[in-house]
Amino acid sequence: MNPPQKVYYFDNNATTRIAPEVVDAMIPFLREMWGNPSSAYAFGAQVHGHVEAARAKVAALVGADPKEIIFTSCGTESNNSAIHSALISSGKRHVITTAVEHSANINFGEYLQKQGFEVTYLPVESDGSLDLHLLEKSIRPDTAIVSVMYANNETGVIFPIEEVAAICRSKGTLCHTDAVQVPGKLKLDAHQLGVDFLSLSAHKLHAPKGIGLLYVKRRTKYTPYIIGGHQEKGRRGGTESVANIIAFGRAAELAMATLDEENTRVRALRDRLETFILTNIPNTVRNGAKEPRLPNTVNIGFDFVEAEAVLLLLDQIGICASSGSACTTGSLDPSHVLSAMGVKPMRARGSVRFSLGIYNTDAEVDYLIQHLPPIIQKLRDISPLNPAHQDNDRYDIAGARAKHEQDLAMAKTE
Ligand SMILES: *Cc1c(COP(=O)(O)O)cnc(C)c1O
Repeated sequence: MNPPQKVYYFDNNATTRIAPEVVDAMIPFLREMWGNPSSAYAFGAQVHGHVEAARAKVAALVGADPKEIIFTSCGTESNNSAIHSALISSGKRHVITTAVEHSANINFGEYLQKQGFEVTYLPVESDGSLDLHLLEKSIRPDTAIVSVMYANNETGVIFPIEEVAAICRSKGTLCHTDAVQVPGKLKLDAHQLGVDFLSLSAHKLHAPKGIGLLYVKRRTKYTPYIIGGHQEKGRRGGTESVANIIAFGRAAELAMATLDEENTRVRALRDRLETFILTNIPNTVRNGAKEPRLPNTVNIGFDFVEAEAVLLLLDQIGICASSGSACTTGSLDPSHVLSAMGVKPMRARGSVRFSLGIYNTDAEVDYLIQHLPPIIQKLRDISPLNPAHQDNDRYDIAGARAKHEQDLAMAKTE
């Protein structure tokens, strides 16, 4: 199958295009300045200076001091490291997180439970919001850390992290936030938030995959997760991923510069898409609160269709979107985020996330808006889930289902 010429990319919460400026910034560190920043001679030491300049740039993005930044390999490592550090440093055995976190937390929590730790997954309301009273009541004397994401990658719903951190402080518990979806969309200020730990991942802000950071508040005790050399002041072993760090620094500058655009032009594109779908395609709902929400994200439940089928037909015409998170693609389970919000399995399985970004244009949204309704119509026409068909006793439900599944299987093997 030849990939279509043009990609219509509406999956910016899964990963983002690397900005050309970011590629330009990193190339010298792949071609010429490839020395080890820990080496004593000038060829290595000059690289060290650039790593520290990048650290200052990402620190500015986070609203932190450069000394509070540890470079990691990804958002997943940052989340795991924060929770691990809190447990080891405190000797306590209990962790609180939410039922709607990224799989980085959900699955690490399950791993911890198998090791004998206790993990509480806080439920959420039907609009995806968090009950802060419940959070406060759930904190125990043996709670090592509360880890609550800043903005949800599937629905865009934003949690009140400043309030979460204040509750943690009043209870003497550490607080971590997974802010991976936030930079470039909301202003970040770790000091004002009052959290002890905060995670970012560069590939969500137009830099390469494989580089992230963990903010650790000054004077918060930190126990390393990756143990080895004395890099990152002994807090994370492993030779620095120099070109990626440089890229992250450049992307941090760009993210601050595009904050306005994301909240005006990109938000308007998202709103146009959302309004079009909800008013022109019947039996559709938005999953999650309208506000507070990331300006780029919309998650729509299309009744009587399977999201996987919608995504396959969109893919055939070059449109990238997703159901839930990329990390759960391939499993037929409905999204754990939508399930936690009480969305019925049938609707959850028909839910699609569109996440926009600074590279999306009006014309691309036009293209999506033009093609989506006939795709939904076509799938509903053959859908055994469609009640219009269930009323019609001459309609061959089993046959339609079999055909639908055959089509899906064919499309998957193409
Ligand atoms: C993408 C994502 C992660 C994981 O980041 P990686 O760098 O891919 O490990 C964690 N949390 C959220 C909210 C994300 O969107």
